Amino acid sequence: RREDVHYFGAGPAPLPTSVLEEAAKVLLNYNDSGIGITEISHRSPEANAILAHAQDALRQLLDIPNGDGPEGYQILFLQGGGSGEFSAVVYNLVSVWLAKRAKGIVDDETKLADEVAKLRLDYLVTGSWSLKASQEAARLIGKEHVNIVTDSRQHRDGKVGVIPSAETYKPSTTAADVALTYYCDNETVDGVEFQGTPDGENLVADMSSNFLSRRVDVRKHIAIFGGAQKNIGTTGITIAIISNKILPPHAAMADSVLMRKLGLSVGPVVLDYPTVAKNNSLYNTLPIFDVWIAGRVMQRLLDASEGQTPRIATQQAESDKKAKDLYAVLDGSDVYTVVPDKSVRSRMNLCFRIKGGDADAEKAFLKGAESRGLFGLKGHRSVGGIRASNYNAVSVAAVEKLIQYMKDFADGKA
Ligand code: PMP
Repeated sequence: RREDVHYFGAGPAPLPTSVLEEAAKVLLNYNDSGIGITEISHRSPEANAILAHAQDALRQLLDIPNGDGPEGYQILFLQGGGSGEFSAVVYNLVSVWLAKRAKGIVDDETKLADEVAKLRLDYLVTGSWSLKASQEAARLIGKEHVNIVTDSRQHRDGKVGVIPSAETYKPSTTAADVALTYYCDNETVDGVEFQGTPDGENLVADMSSNFLSRRVDVRKHIAIFGGAQKNIGTTGITIAIISNKILPPHAAMADSVLMRKLGLSVGPVVLDYPTVAKNNSLYNTLPIFDVWIAGRVMQRLLDASEGQTPRIATQQAESDKKAKDLYAVLDGSDVYTVVPDKSVRSRMNLCFRIKGGDADAEKAFLKGAESRGLFGLKGHRSVGGIRASNYNAVSVAAVEKLIQYMKDFADGKA
């Protein structure tokens, strides 16, 4: 039974039971129309209301600047997951960069080629997902254009688990050459989370695994994205918060013929931010059910946070407390070792080992956990060990059960 199980998987992840119960009903009959929510048109008034509600809820939760001016941000719903955005940010920001740099020299191929040679995409590599994103950039536009600002593996014997201090960063020397500076706010596999917003020209953040778990300094970014399947909803939609500064009329995109002529990748239209923004995320069929789920999840956060600014503060307090309590048990026993450095521990994905990475002991830990209804604790296949994901829908009661189990295991009572 669902109520006997606590699930700590890293994504897809738990959703509030009340939302799923409501979802089961609307799948059959949405708003007493006799038609299920996955059957209605994405262009119907009902779908429009669902979309508008989700956008408004996100705006309130994270205090996202509104309006059409350069200071405003658009909220887009896309498909293709977080991985799709690894590519999308490259396509879009290289296009914006080139449009700026080609001004006045579009007919001079030599000058254009000289400009393109200066193009840089700056990546902060602090774990598996930012590494993958940087590799995708290299695949799309060539590794000569990708500058690794920092690679945390060089600061910890070849292993990830730290975020090096900003003084050691090596951003590209000329800020104007930088189409984007990329970082992953929370590394899901490695349990590493930024403790503040890094600096960088045209800052882009992957917030897939800590979206809606804390305040975000939106104004420091030109793009923030995240798949919905951890803290926000079901797999199938990706949310992007895009600055108007990189959208028309505030920014132009380069002509696709020119891009190709210069050897730069042109992206699929479904990942083209201006196209998606102009069509309010309805350029093609949007899975409205997924947007509805995200909207219900966000409405719960709003309901719980009356009077808070920003509204996400309430959830942040709960997330921080759950993580703190879990780390206290890990630190309080010499049976466990936390994998990442103390200074950058993730509040969302707690990665740890049983002393010395003893495979049999770890197996026993996982088996014992399951016998108490605690599931999804196995570390990512690439790193092993144990990972407890502390997403929003993981209740305080679930965390308390896990804590009790961890204590009992350490005391040999499990
Ligand atoms: N970024 C992060 C931080 C992730 O955790 C993941 C998936 N777990 C991705 C990107 C890739 O997301 P997707 O599987 O939706 O492409």
